[in-house]
Amino acid sequence: MNKRILVTGGAGFIGSHLCKRLLEEGNEVLCVDNFFTGNKDNILELMDNKRFELFRHDVTAPLYVEVDEIYNLACPASPIHYQFDPVQTTKTSVHGAINMLGLAKRTKAKILQASTSEVYGDPEEHPQPESYWGKVNPIGIRSCYDEGKRCAETLFFDYYRQHNLPIRVVRIFNTYGPNMHPKDGRVVSNFIVQALNNEDITIYGDGLQTRSFQYVDDLVEGIVRMMENTENFIGPVNIGNPHEFSMKQLAEKVLELIPESTSKVVYKPLPQDDPRQRQPNISLAKEKLGWEPRVELEEGLKNTIEYFRRIVLS
Ligand code: NAD
Ligand code: UDP
Repeated sequence: MNKRILVTGGAGFIGSHLCKRLLEEGNEVLCVDNFFTGNKDNILELMDNKRFELFRHDVTAPLYVEVDEIYNLACPASPIHYQFDPVQTTKTSVHGAINMLGLAKRTKAKILQASTSEVYGDPEEHPQPESYWGKVNPIGIRSCYDEGKRCAETLFFDYYRQHNLPIRVVRIFNTYGPNMHPKDGRVVSNFIVQALNNEDITIYGDGLQTRSFQYVDDLVEGIVRMMENTENFIGPVNIGNPHEFSMKQLAEKVLELIPESTSKVVYKPLPQDDPRQRQPNISLAKEKLGWEPRVELEEGLKNTIEYFRRIVLS
């Protein structure tokens, strides 16, 4: 049966892919975004669809609409953007969660929270299972994001326990792909845009810190499966690609895939509280959702490079 689905942060990188997928399945999609980091170009191709609606709104304010499902993605995800106005970042996660949970309670909607691997902080357990509680600095420059997302998870579970609300919580690991903003500031987009523009490739620290990168199509499949699972599995569940790379290896891979680039690698200071390593344990997603990522880094990077080539050329 087709549903009325609200996607907050729908004009952002991940949100735009999710809106597209939900429309393709025949649903009505209401995209809510304040355009802080999102933009209309990401959803331009959806605008002609009569089942798609766009509403400029900040989730820190209450929202009155009628919906069957809510995907709560609104929140800047890149460190440079979430640190630009850290108070607003915490408000977006915390007040945004309260407002969307209130909406879900009133409309009896199922609601999914886009949480993050950042809830594990700079992890001492590796790879990270969902049972690991994390090592997060509560007063550092990443805290507005990390602690905001942790508090949002708390709110989701309290609405579940207190009001029996049907919730879903996914912990998303580093994701990349088309529709990332060229100035997003995250490592994959930075390296590709720098290589295409023949600018220095900026590795922060010694480049030995690791991340596990997942392609956006895999993520969207995972979060839709999580929302739709009928076993009432609420999570939290890790959605990420367990293949781990150092930032040095990533820079080498990007340069290998853009052979015409004359960029050189340069080293810059490591930002405060930058996690040393990150890799998801995805056993739970495999068991409960029958999900695992399919797109390997090289294939995903090729698609992403094609997207940025078009942007850089235009
Ligand atoms: P993004 O910055 O591209 O998208 C976020 C969207 O939310 C943007 O369109 C922005 O304008 C909107 N937004 C921000 N504050 C808002 C507010 N107060 N009201 C309404 N809209 C608001 O980031 P993304 O990578 O697409 O991330 C989407 C979600 O996934 C975020 O919640 C993020 O924390 C989570 N996440 C992403 C990653 C990743 O690697 N991309 C990893 C973990 C978690
Ligand atoms: N990073 C880097 N060069 C850049 C941007 C980021 O070396 O131009 C590093 C950053 O310090 C971190 C890793 O890449 O160790 C991933 O950073 P990103 O901001 O993409 O994600 P997060 O740190 O939130 O996982």
